[in-house]
Amino acid sequence: MSGWLVVAGLGPGAEAMITPEVTAALAQATDVLGYIPYVARVAPRAGLTLHPSDNREELDRAQHALALAAAGGRVVIVSSGDPGVFAMASALFEALEARPDLYGLEIRILPGITAMLAAAAAAGAPLGHDFCCLNLSDNLKPWALIETRLRLAAAADLAMAFYNPRSRARPEGFARALDLLREVCGPDRLITFARAVSTPAQEIRTVTLAAATPGMADMRTVVLLGNSQTRRVGPWVYTPRSAP
Ligand code: SAH
Repeated sequence: MSGWLVVAGLGPGAEAMITPEVTAALAQATDVLGYIPYVARVAPRAGLTLHPSDNREELDRAQHALALAAAGGRVVIVSSGDPGVFAMASALFEALEARPDLYGLEIRILPGITAMLAAAAAAGAPLGHDFCCLNLSDNLKPWALIETRLRLAAAADLAMAFYNPRSRARPEGFARALDLLREVCGPDRLITFARAVSTPAQEIRTVTLAAATPGMADMRTVVLLGNSQTRRVGPWVYTPRSAP
């Protein structure tokens, strides 16, 4: 039997947010690879080998998965949320680029519910008009580029979602991002901190930029910044569908 390789999104945390096609792929797998806490979400069973690895080893993990599938394994790489959003799908294709001999391998990318969409749903509809999505980690790009993109997105009055708000390599980065946004968007702009969305530890907090502090975010938080029209309605936050 020939092998295949799936890159699957496990969603933000809740079992109910895992898609049926991801569940089916995991049920057929011989090998599951991924970052330690994501592999821990997969139940062990006979015939399945779990390969948890550290967060910094994405390319090694992708190469390992390709080798296992090429040898006939039914291989699933798991990501949290969606595998195409700051996650393993790109790492897999980066590894594949160097292996033209494997271009014929059966590969499928199975989408998942990404953190910003689960967070937006929990808060109301803060991404209801045009928005963009930025990774605030400077592991794979210079901080100056992050600042340029923040300024341009703010100038375009886009709502924004921020992943990895607190970069390990540069813990002061998020404080600088908040300063920049206060300067460009003003103190009254709404910002939502959504932590551990869809898990029992979920916390959703909306404040103005004036009241926002770097400590409100950690590595389990996705941050949603409204546009100039974003407002509260009762306990909810929403962005109107039309431009002003
Ligand atoms: N592929 C993932 C993102 C990986 S980057 C996805 O599509 O969601 C890791 C970042 O995602 C975290 O630093 C955090 O900003 C965000 N994140 C992932 N799961 C989350 C959750 N349950 N609640 C809040 N933020 C989450």
